[in-house]
Amino acid sequence: MKPTGKPEEGWKKKLQPEQYHILREKGTEMPFTGKLLHNKGDGTYLCAGCGAELFSSEAKFDSGTGWPSFYEPKNRENVELKKDFTQGMVRTEVLCKKCNGHLGHVFGDGPAPTGKRFCINSCALEFKKSK
Ligand code: FE
Repeated sequence: MKPTGKPEEGWKKKLQPEQYHILREKGTEMPFTGKLLHNKGDGTYLCAGCGAELFSSEAKFDSGTGWPSFYEPKNRENVELKKDFTQGMVRTEVLCKKCNGHLGHVFGDGPAPTGKRFCINSCALEFKKSK
């Protein structure tokens, strides 16, 4: 990316339109449509924007909400949590710390051991199979 260019234009070229909408415009994919919702493989979920390692398949669970759900990030330092007051709700937004891409939200109704539910757009993730 050229230093003079607008950073968002670079993302537009790099990402698919739906990925751009979610990661850069804080969109939400339709529930039960994401390609990784039912993915049960062993591996790591990476940021679709920058490749940062965000979630492990070990923390994935079926929340029934229609979005890939995890009870914890793979590395707490790779995600940023931010209060989100949009849409008449108070929620906690989950962002990729490296590229500042919007990933989804985290809620307090997840399973043990954390009680957290990281509700993440499939479009914001790439799956990297282990081995
Ligand atoms: Fe990223």
